[in-house]
Amino acid sequence: MHEILTMLEPGSLVLDLGCADGSFSDTSTGATVIRLDLELPSKKKTNSSFVRGDAANLPFRDRTFSAIISNHSLEHFDNLAAVLAEIKRIIRPDGALFVSVPDASTITDKLYRWLARGGGHVNPFVSPTATASLIVSATGMRHVATRTLYSSLSFLNSRHSPRPRPKRLLMLGGGHEMTLFAFVWLSRRLDSLLGTRLSVLGWAFYFGNISAVDVDTTGWPNVCVRCGSGFPERYILCEGHCRRQPFRRYFGFALYSCPLCGALNPFIQRLP
Ligand SMILES: [Zn+2]
Repeated sequence: MHEILTMLEPGSLVLDLGCADGSFSDTSTGATVIRLDLELPSKKKTNSSFVRGDAANLPFRDRTFSAIISNHSLEHFDNLAAVLAEIKRIIRPDGALFVSVPDASTITDKLYRWLARGGGHVNPFVSPTATASLIVSATGMRHVATRTLYSSLSFLNSRHSPRPRPKRLLMLGGGHEMTLFAFVWLSRRLDSLLGTRLSVLGWAFYFGNISAVDVDTTGWPNVCVRCGSGFPERYILCEGHCRRQPFRRYFGFALYSCPLCGALNPFIQRLP
């Protein structure tokens, strides 16, 4: 989504739709950020404005926003058609839209729904082509690019779970960070060797007024086991977060420290 956020002019408006605590930081963009969800966050972590409202009946005038970010929210909306119609109504003709959704056919989404007893995922997306076509036909916006998203199962991380740990989390190994570390490394290896999709989370879509050359469609398989943030391979290398030796000498792969939370992760150099 950063490709859209960084191109917005000061004074323009961006809507974080179905934001929960916030899908991105205030410093990600020069635009004014409005965040909307059914409930206000219990702890406000940003200085931007939060609006309590229904995504199917948005409290904004027509053609208000230069960009809309829907980061893992479309799968939650009961009336998806109405939400897409509202996006069409409130976005400017020269606006840009970012949408990310989980692939309901993946092991990650199935585990999440089992652990969270549905997790509020009411719209199962299973095809990137069909999902992009649905959004294009509902909003009239041009589909520019799609990027595959990868999983670290960070939602299982025991650091984020309530105490005592839920029985279903214990059945999945308790959410220990080293277990997730092993999943990240092994899922990428198996995908690479066998052509499976164990490491896939879903897709990110870009629509509207953004150039395809500005969108990074390279997959980012390096996803942190603790905070769930994904990073481009070159960023980890260039910023000096990668620890090549001596671990690589014995185990065949390097490590990196997450630039955001400091967690130790296996460094994945080749896409599955
Ligand atoms: Zn992290």
